[in-house]
Amino acid sequence: MAEHFQEDSVSSVAVRIDAEHPQGVLFDPHQPQLRVTDLGVVRGDGVFETMLVIDGAVRKLTPHLNRLRRSADITEIGIPPEESWRAAIQLGLEEFRTRGGLPEQLSIRLTATRGVDGEPASEDPQFAGTYWALLAPVPATMLASRGKPIAVTLLDRGYSSDAAERSPWLMLSAKTLSYAVNMAAGRWARQHGFDDVIFLSSDGQVLEAPTSTVLMYSEDAEGTPVLTTPTLSTGILPGTSQGAIFAAAERAGWKLAYGPVTPEDLKAAQHVWLLSSVRLASPVNRIDDHQLEVSTELTATLMDFLAQDLAETYPTES
Ligand code: PLP
Repeated sequence: MAEHFQEDSVSSVAVRIDAEHPQGVLFDPHQPQLRVTDLGVVRGDGVFETMLVIDGAVRKLTPHLNRLRRSADITEIGIPPEESWRAAIQLGLEEFRTRGGLPEQLSIRLTATRGVDGEPASEDPQFAGTYWALLAPVPATMLASRGKPIAVTLLDRGYSSDAAERSPWLMLSAKTLSYAVNMAAGRWARQHGFDDVIFLSSDGQVLEAPTSTVLMYSEDAEGTPVLTTPTLSTGILPGTSQGAIFAAAERAGWKLAYGPVTPEDLKAAQHVWLLSSVRLASPVNRIDDHQLEVSTELTATLMDFLAQDLAETYPTES
């Protein structure tokens, strides 16, 4: 089977969590594992987190675990306690060491699904679903594209900026497995000559990118840097990278703000980035036909803010 997999996935390590193995147990990710009736597969009914490991240190581990818990609560999916996820991650990292060494940079994806309909894996609701951690080296293509300028297009996400409040059943801000729309938007962008997308609400507010958070930079009259990101009340995902950058920027004396952000605000910003845990900070040099200035120096500062890893949890805007 292994020859069907790319090199990166062959060198990945996987850990399952279940009632019999609350601390996790290794499994071969290159062999079939899931029941075809698992609701994570047939309905995208599950939640996940993706995080970065550098030299064996997991970046923003607590913010990610807290956000996993938040997504699980919103979707009403029972998940194992935090200690189980921490132990599973350590087991995975240890397996890399046993195999001959930790890659310098790994991504870890934690996945929890609702499991098989009508057949809970355990009577204990914390273990009733399907749970695993997948650890894989960060692909060379991702490492090479880090910090490189990107062109984005603004696309309508199809719901209004108050949809999260009006329609809680949409579970807008949960990090669920249902990413088909986000992936389709990315394909649309690439087919039309862009690298990525920034979604707008139907009433014209800036939301987020399909897999990242929008960050704007400007300076006030005194020359103090001001970072602005769209308000979380629009139902966007509270980004752990944005939260980590805000925590470090605040310590550095920068000003911080949460939108509402309009497309005009975005284009008027001095600089714009897309942020996410593995990609880090990608400067935007074009929004549709509007050119934006890119600062290599400020991108490096944001990378440094991320490396400080100061945030205690995901951002809440309060
Ligand atoms: N927004 C969406 C929709 C995402 O999927 C992601 C990450 O995957 C982000 C924002 C960025 O979140 P983080 O910085 O926590 O990786």
